[in-house]
Amino acid sequence: MSPWKAARVGDPLSAVDTPALVLDLDAFERNLQRLATAVAGTKVRLRPHAKSHKCPEIARRQVALGAVGICCQKVGEAAVFVEAGIADVLVTNEVVGDAKLRQLAALARRARIGVLADHPQQVQALAAAAKAQDASLDVYVEVDVGANRCGVPPGEPAAQLARQIASSAGLRFAGLQCYHGPAQHMRTPQSRADAIAGACEAVRASVRACEAAGLRVERVTGAGTGSFVNELASGVFDELQAGSYVFMDRDYGDNQLGAGDIAFEHALFVRAMVMSRPTADRAVVDAGLKASSVDSGMPTVWQRPELRYAKASDEHGVIATPSQEALALGDAVLLVPGHCDPTVNLYDELICFRGDTVEAVWPIAARGALL
Ligand code: PLP
Ligand code: MN
Repeated sequence: MSPWKAARVGDPLSAVDTPALVLDLDAFERNLQRLATAVAGTKVRLRPHAKSHKCPEIARRQVALGAVGICCQKVGEAAVFVEAGIADVLVTNEVVGDAKLRQLAALARRARIGVLADHPQQVQALAAAAKAQDASLDVYVEVDVGANRCGVPPGEPAAQLARQIASSAGLRFAGLQCYHGPAQHMRTPQSRADAIAGACEAVRASVRACEAAGLRVERVTGAGTGSFVNELASGVFDELQAGSYVFMDRDYGDNQLGAGDIAFEHALFVRAMVMSRPTADRAVVDAGLKASSVDSGMPTVWQRPELRYAKASDEHGVIATPSQEALALGDAVLLVPGHCDPTVNLYDELICFRGDTVEAVWPIAARGALL
């Protein structure tokens, strides 16, 4: 934790100390509303991914706008959100290891908890953990629908694992997890549509195999910010897991949008300040890779296309400038992070502003919850 706060409620945005993670509340609220509106009146439920924001206040707002609950990636994140009063949490991950399984089962005594499996040993271990605490877990079979990450192959292998779950005391076969990660950042609408069409084939084959085994597939869940319009329209998905839509980032901003896509706005920024101005073509800001994640490429400088954030080291960001006049020592800029999720994980607090004024400071309570 920093020895002092970057900002207090009521401060002007121009007084927020740097580097700081700041949220444009107007843009953020429009983003929340846009996705809520897109699913309203359909049979598809929204279960936003909270790994993007790690912030209970945002989860509460998503639920208030109709989300059925949230997704987490980690048991430690789930613990934070259950503690904050979120009643329905899906851990979109396989969970292995006694300590985590104990935590997961304990959470399932306080909230509805879902988890994934893609191997019989996981199912056995989940059942043992549930039994030990007299808890009940919703277990989803993760199907590899083209992402080549986790998951059993579609079709019969999915049905086999589903059968094991359904016959395990303490576990409920809750459905299929069918997330296609690489589709999210395919740049053209057609390439995303094609990838999700392939995923849908895999889903259908898996549902057919489960039904042939006498198992009803109650829910097919998946999708992210880049592809969800396709899953929403597919008729085979029941639930969407988009996360980054609340904030957006440079990588998502680089996706081309099609007629059916929803334009979300950049709402999350790193406020940074010029601390060195060594040459006319180089300004150095106080936000490097410890302030803005660069795994998906460099940030951009908000509304300053003539400035190019060229290089990040730990605590320095080098901005290429067209002239001496372009930036002065002490000038502030807003950076659009390359990747929102790991950037948020670098901060304790989200400084929320409306117009030019800090309106709220929200703890990023699940920040660093890696267990
Ligand atoms: N679901 C799962 C399983 C994920 O791993 C992710 C992100 O990687 C998402 C949903 C949400 O994706 P996004 O934040 O890109 O909307
Ligand atoms: Mn991400």
